[in-house]
Amino acid sequence: MIIGITGGMGSGKSTLANVLKEKGFSVFDADAIYKELTGPGEALVLKLEELFGRDVSDENHSLNRARLSEAAFSSEENIRLLNETTHKAVKDEIERRVSESGSDLIALDIPLLFESGSDAGCDEVWLVVAPLKDRLERIVMRDGISEDEALKRISHQMSDEDKIKLSDVVIYNDSTYEELVNKIDEIVKERLKL
Ligand code: ATP
Repeated sequence: MIIGITGGMGSGKSTLANVLKEKGFSVFDADAIYKELTGPGEALVLKLEELFGRDVSDENHSLNRARLSEAAFSSEENIRLLNETTHKAVKDEIERRVSESGSDLIALDIPLLFESGSDAGCDEVWLVVAPLKDRLERIVMRDGISEDEALKRISHQMSDEDKIKLSDVVIYNDSTYEELVNKIDEIVKERLKL
């Protein structure tokens, strides 16, 4: 059983992933894998240099994320190329790790699950939805960025409305943290009998 966890920035995906981990799921985090794959000198960094220019990384091939964003966000075509390249690399690596794990309870925490087409490989998609105001507050506090910057990042993602239509389970994270954990616990018991 492969559950795809998704939701906007700061919605509560990691919280859901942690509860599933406690229930015995092997969890794979697309953001963490992306960070690993873009470590200094990694194949993906060399590929990004090839596509977007040598100055997207420094002399040690350590990725300069600000320069990469600048290069990629210069045109729609470049955004598409960046997404295609990074999503494919992460997807391939997740597939490799899933098959290596030998586990039959798998949860994939993938912020851009639908946008990257990764939902196709999941048995079920569980979406976490939280009010915009709460998400902005959490992102600003956690990442130390401005509210405008947080809003800009959120606006690049697919809307919750569209994601809800494509999901099997929708978890509303609109109360306290404890309430969220309780909700998840109930859903896991009900749907998975765990
Ligand atoms: P991202 O994709 O941006 O990494 P995420 O969707 O994985 O975020 P979490 O990391 O689970 O979201 O939650 C974001 C932050 O908000 C965390 O610090 C988490 O503890 C906190 N949080 C989540 N839900 C609540 C809640 N209902 N009340 C208070 N804090 C919460």
